[in-house]
Amino acid sequence: MRNLLITAIILVISVPVQLFGQVKRYSFEKGLMGSPFKLVFYAASDSIADEAAKKAFGRVEELNEIMSDYRDGSEINRLSAQSGSGKWIRVSKDLFDILAISRSVSEKTDGVFDVTLGPVVQMWRHATRKNIFPSSEEIAAARSKTGFSKMKLNANTKSVLLTQKGMRLDIGGLGKGYAAEEAVKELKKLGITSAMMDAGGKIVLTNPPPGSDGWNITISNGSDSLKTLRLSNIALATSGPTYRYMEYEGVRYSHIVDPKTGIGLLFHVRTTAISPDGTIADALATAFSVAGVEKTKKILKNFPGSTVWLVEKSGDKLAEWNTLRQ
Ligand code: AMP
Ligand code: MG
Repeated sequence: MRNLLITAIILVISVPVQLFGQVKRYSFEKGLMGSPFKLVFYAASDSIADEAAKKAFGRVEELNEIMSDYRDGSEINRLSAQSGSGKWIRVSKDLFDILAISRSVSEKTDGVFDVTLGPVVQMWRHATRKNIFPSSEEIAAARSKTGFSKMKLNANTKSVLLTQKGMRLDIGGLGKGYAAEEAVKELKKLGITSAMMDAGGKIVLTNPPPGSDGWNITISNGSDSLKTLRLSNIALATSGPTYRYMEYEGVRYSHIVDPKTGIGLLFHVRTTAISPDGTIADALATAFSVAGVEKTKKILKNFPGSTVWLVEKSGDKLAEWNTLRQ
């Protein structure tokens, strides 16, 4: 429903603003997957630019049809509905790939990232809407239907088996990063190689703008500090409870949940992860938010080429850890 509303107020603007030899800069924006998606790229003509934006946003819409947990008929929800049936379900390449990446991130992060957290995420969404803190029984019941080892994958047949009834998959922690990667692939097919896709804070960058050595990306630590990095051919993602959280009896709980407790994070302020791949960057920003500074120091080495800027509350103070190249 939420996605339908956003689609209804689509804002697509094409604004060529600068001329660099043969190519002009274009920017487009559209509400997708519950967030503003911004696309900036350099193209040779208005018609190529319009076609490219249509293809890139079209690809995101296609992915949303598959992966939205707000749509009963989405492929992911139909798969979840078969949990506990004992049947292996053949799925699309996109759904299989994203679940396989999720699975690998779960294994490399000691389970802090978990795509099977759907029942707990649903419980939190409901609690946030009603402002009623879930009981320990409700939390335990939701948690009992989670666990990434209950999701079996067969790469040969692209099939998935969810072993327990009531399981629910939620790719909210990495779906936008995947969508940004896929959108950029559509641009490359049309010969557009200098592009930035910002999918609600999950950003994929290709070559720098013509005549420059990188895209200027400004990131914040969630309180007072800003950093501007010049980046290209890389991805970065930010996770933070700035807008999405539950406040109960003066305590703020993030929409990111710790799989071990089934409760929204208390100490999290903001995490930015940079990685060669957008799906991984998105998953890592969520995973490292759960892991916190000390555990992230241990698990970051499982992701060569990735860096992180993590800020968390430690009592009244902020603790941070930053491995981003300045
Ligand atoms: P992000 O903004 O990328 O950090 O994604 C947050 C979303 O990921 C939440 O709204 C949930 O849908 C989902 N999520 C929450 N906690 C986790 C977790 N521990 N592992 C994986 N996904 C999560
Ligand atoms: Mg994420």
